[in-house]
Amino acid sequence: MVSFAFDSEHEEFRKTLESFSTRVLLPGYRDRAATTDFPFDIYKKLGDLGILGIGLPEEFGGTGDEDPILLGLATETLAYGDVNMASAPVQIGLVGSQLTLCTPEVQARYLPPLIAGEETIAIALTEPGSGSDASALTTTANPVDGGWLLTGEKTAISWAMNATVALVYAREPGSTRSTGVSCFVVPLDSDGVTTSHMPGMGCLPIGWGSIKLDGAFVPSSHLVGEYGRGFQSVMAHFDFSRAALGLMCIGAAKQSLEEARIYSEQRETFGNTLSSYQSIAFELAEHATYLEGARWMCYRALWLRQTGQPHTSLASMSKWWPPLVAKNAIEFAMRVHGNLGYSTELPLQQRYRDVMAYLVADGTSEIQKRIISKDIYTRGTVSL
Ligand SMILES: Cc1cc2nc3c(=O)[nH]c(=O)nc-3n(C[C@H](O)[C@H](O)[C@H](O)COP(=O)(O)OP(=O)(O)OC[C@H]3O[C@@H](n4cnc5c(N)ncnc54)[C@H](O)[C@@H]3O)c2cc1C
Repeated sequence: MVSFAFDSEHEEFRKTLESFSTRVLLPGYRDRAATTDFPFDIYKKLGDLGILGIGLPEEFGGTGDEDPILLGLATETLAYGDVNMASAPVQIGLVGSQLTLCTPEVQARYLPPLIAGEETIAIALTEPGSGSDASALTTTANPVDGGWLLTGEKTAISWAMNATVALVYAREPGSTRSTGVSCFVVPLDSDGVTTSHMPGMGCLPIGWGSIKLDGAFVPSSHLVGEYGRGFQSVMAHFDFSRAALGLMCIGAAKQSLEEARIYSEQRETFGNTLSSYQSIAFELAEHATYLEGARWMCYRALWLRQTGQPHTSLASMSKWWPPLVAKNAIEFAMRVHGNLGYSTELPLQQRYRDVMAYLVADGTSEIQKRIISKDIYTRGTVSL
C-alpha cells in the first residue's frame, strides 16, 4: 500500500515549525536578507528548537539517528519564513556528520555549540581553479611534525564570514584527482588563515567569502576520517542533503505563490480582481502543479535514503529541477505584484535572488544531470 502521509511525529514537528516560521521568521526576512549581518539571535532560536541537530549524536544535543525526511520538512517549512536560515540545518547536518568522524575531543569542542546555534562552521572545497571539477583542487597539506601545513585558496564559501571553523579539503603534495585528498578541521582564527567577504546577489547574511591558507598549521587530531579519503565521506552525505535543498527552494516558492494569490484577490484592474483573469489564475495553477510534482520527488529521494535504498540520482534530480521551478514560481509572483514585485518593499525580489544561488551552489544543474545521465546509460537505478 502506498502512502504519501507523514507519520504523526513528523506532522507534529511540521506544524510547530510552520507556526515558528510564519510568526517569527517571516516578518523580519526582507530586512535580514538585505544585510550581511549573520542573525545569531535567530540561529540560536533554531538551536533551541532542536533543528540544528537533526541526525547528529544525542550526547551533543542532536536528535540521534539520521532522519532525512525530518531534515526535508525542516528546510521546506523554515523557508516559508526565511530561506537563508532554512539552509542552516543542511549545513550543520552535512558538516556535523563529518565531525562525527573526528577524535572525541574535536567532536566535544565543536558539535555542541553548532547544534545549540551558538557557532557556525563553513565547508571549504571550491577554489578559484576548481568548482564543478572539485577533484582538481590544488590546496596542499604538507606533513610536518604533529600535523600539516595547509596552503591554498578556497573561494565562494558560504558561512566563511561568520564561522568559527571550516572543514578544508586539501591534497597530499604530488597526488592527483580525488586520491590523496583529505579533510581537515581548521579554526579560522589560526595563524596563516585569512577570510575575506565576497559580495553576492543574494544569500547575504550567510557570509559568502574566501579563505586563504598560507602555511596554516593543522594538528593531526584535526583530520576528518581517514587520511586521503576526504571526498568519500562527504559525498555520502551530499547526495541526500541535495534533496533537502530542493525542498528549501520549494518552501520559498510556495510562500511567494501564497503572497501572489492574496494580492491577486485584492488588486483590481479594469474593474476586476487579477484572480478573475484566467491568464493569472492558470499560471498560478501551473506553478502550483510544478511545485507539487517537484516537492514529492524530493521527499521520495529522502524516503529512499531513509529506507536504505539507492537515492543518488533522485537526489540529483531534486537538486536541479526544484530550484528551477521554484525560481520560476517566484518570478511569476513578482510579476503578479506589478511594480511592487520589483521593488525592495516586498520580500519577493529578495527570495528570487536567494533561491537563484541553488542553481549553482552544492553542484550546478549540469553536474546533477551528469550524475543522472551516467546512471541512465549504465542502466543503474533510473529506468526510462
Ligand atoms: C551562493 C553560493 C554558495 C556556495 N557555497 C559554497 C560552499 O559553502 N563551499 C564550497 O566549497 N563551495 C561553495 N560554492 C561554490 C559552488 O559549489 C561552485 O560555484 C559550483 O560547484 C560550480 O563551480 P564553479 O563556480 O567553479 O563553476 P565551473 O565549475 O567553472 O562551471 C561553470 C559552468 O560550466 C558548467 N560545467 C562545468 N563542467 C561541466 C560539464 N562537465 N558539463 C557541462 N557543463 C559543465 C557548470 O554547470 C557551470 O554552469 C557556492 C556557490 C554559490 C553560488
